Order: sequence, then structure tokens, then C-alpha cells
Amino acid sequence: MSTEIASLGEFGLIDRLTKDIKLQNQSSKYGIGDDAAVLSYPDKEVLVATDILMEGVHFDLVYTPLMHLGYKSAIVNFSDIYAMNGKPKQITVSIALGKRFQVEDIEAFYEGVKIACKEHQVDIIGGDTTSSFTGLAISITCIGEAKKEDIVYRTGAKNTDLICVSGNLGAAYMGLQLLEREKEVFKGSKNPQPDFAGKEYILERQLRPRARKDIIEALEKAKIKPTSMMDVSDGLSSELMHICTQSNVGCRVFEENLPIDYQTALMAEEFNMNVTTCAMNGGEDYELLFTVPISDHEKIIQIEDIRLIGHITEAKLNTILVTRDNQEMELKAQGWNPLKNNKDTE
Ligand code: ADP
Ligand code: MG
Repeated sequence: MSTEIASLGEFGLIDRLTKDIKLQNQSSKYGIGDDAAVLSYPDKEVLVATDILMEGVHFDLVYTPLMHLGYKSAIVNFSDIYAMNGKPKQITVSIALGKRFQVEDIEAFYEGVKIACKEHQVDIIGGDTTSSFTGLAISITCIGEAKKEDIVYRTGAKNTDLICVSGNLGAAYMGLQLLEREKEVFKGSKNPQPDFAGKEYILERQLRPRARKDIIEALEKAKIKPTSMMDVSDGLSSELMHICTQSNVGCRVFEENLPIDYQTALMAEEFNMNVTTCAMNGGEDYELLFTVPISDHEKIIQIEDIRLIGHITEAKLNTILVTRDNQEMELKAQGWNPLKNNKDTE
């Protein structure tokens, strides 16, 4: 089926995308259908995060299915709210569409957004829909809540705190490298057979990232409040430097402690890349990086899928990676910078 957007018109399209949306959160008082949505947070702090995703800068529709793109667009915003130790509750979804899109394409995108919202109990409460001459643009704003005393900033890391990271690092970056390679192969071939066998995990990490709600819940259950936290969207190196600068501390991170999946390591080898560099500088993992007081050591090691990678030091000791052969390297934020490097995220 393929339906021209013009045959529905703007209002028809919005109606088709949003007619099955039902509000589930108490704080969502009124959603789609008026000039503004109405929210009520009588006794919580309100967190707001927003992101723009531009075709050709942040995603490539040659290998990104629209449903995955919708899912990921929502997830990256939820991840920002979790990184404040909050819970996402509402999103607005704004899209600017080029002429080549059909109604079914946008429905697929929305399906992905809705799946992410369902997984994280988030309400879609509005958005904007317009046309674009330069490809697809997506902007999602997420509203979340937290008790005032629970919010975790990037500024609270203290000397001797333990540095922790969830999941593993570099997989999304290796997935991207693989997709880019296969795209180049496609270009010269009439009957492309992409070579993805045994590489499903890194592809999933790139195309369908997770936001670590489970880690926030596990920390809450264990009664651990991190002293600082952020999500790993630009690469560990760059995020560590943000925490250290904003907390006015230094750090020592140990190469041998970095969590790296087997497929990531294999792929790095195939590409002749240093896997530690991929783990330190690859983007889009959407894992949580946080610090806890050393007194929480016993509690933190009980939680699954969290790795201790180093500790916080005084600012004058700089931000250091200790390599396997005991060399000290000063961290550099090579991370993703779309202004320097025309590929990938922010
Ligand atoms: P306005 O002219 O006031 O901007 P619109 O006609 O753009 O209103 O939107 C009408 C309603 O539909 C509003 O509640 C708006 O939030 C919602 N809406 C518009 N586009 C989207 C979208 N892409 N996703 C979700 N809701 C949308
Ligand atoms: Mg509008």
C-alpha cells in the first residue's frame, strides 16, 4: 500500500498517526487536539530534554528502517531523562517531511515511536508536522519527572568515587562501521548480499539502542544515589571529560576494565581498528556512566551489568586511561562532533 500524503492533507495525516494514542500517566492532563498539551506535576521536579535528528547528518535511510528510526529517536530522549535519574513521562514529536515519503512510511516511523513509548510508559502529547525540501528532520522533546532530592547532575563527582558504566561499549559504533561498509558494497552491486551473519548484536546496538531504565530501577532498589551521571552518547572519553570538568575532578580509568562485547572485538579486528579506541570514542551506546561513593562498593558490585572501570581523582591528576601495559594516557574527547565530522550524533 502506498498513499500520497497530499491525499490526506496535514490534518488527515496527524489524525491517522495519532488517533489510537491513549494517555496513561497521571501527569498527562490533556494531550493531542488543542493548541497546547496540559501537564500537571504538583510535587515533582520537571525534566526536559530535546534532540534534533537530521537525515544525512544523524541517520542514513539507505540502511535505517523507518520503524527503527522512530524507536531510536524516542529512546535517545528517554536516555537523557534516565541520565538525570528521572523517569520519562511525555514526548512531543515534530517531523518535517520531504515529498518522497508516503503515509505508510510515516506510519512506520510512528510505530517505532509508539513501541518505545509503550516500553517506557511514556505518553505522546503533541508535536508538529510540516514539509521539508532537504530530507527528513525529526525533533523530539521529552518531559520527565524526579523528586528534587533524587536528581543526579554531572557536577557531583568527588575524589575517590568509583566510576561505573552499564552494559558494554563500542558496539553501536562497530555496527555503524559495518553498515557503512555494506552500503559501499551495495553501490557497486546489482544483487547485494550483505554480510551480516554473526554480527546481529552490533547491528542491533546501532539500529535499536536501549535506554537503561533497568539500571535506574536497580540503583533505586539498592538505595544507591550516584554522585554524578550521564548517558554515553558521544563516547566514553568525551563523557568522562564532561563529568571531570563539570565536577572539577580528575579520573583514572583502566583499559583492562572496559566492558567490550565479543562481536565488537571481532569486528574491530576485521576493520583493523584498536578496540579500546572504539570503546573509548565510539558513540551511541546509550549506556549510563556514573560515579558512586566508595562506601557503596559492596552494593554496586551486586548489581548485574554494571562494570567498575576506574575511580575519580583530584583535578590536578588529569583524566587518565591506564593501559594494559601500565602506560598512562591522557584522555582526549575524539567523540562524535557533527560540526567537525559530518557523520553522526550529538
Ligand atoms: P497548531 O496549528 O496549533 O500547531 P497543529 O495543527 O499543528 O496545531 O496540531 C494539532 C494537534 O496535533 C496539536 O495537539 C499538536 O500537538 C498535534 N500534532 C501535530 N503534529 C503532530 C505529530 N507529528 N505528532 C503528534 N502530535 C501532533
Ligand atoms: Mg503545528
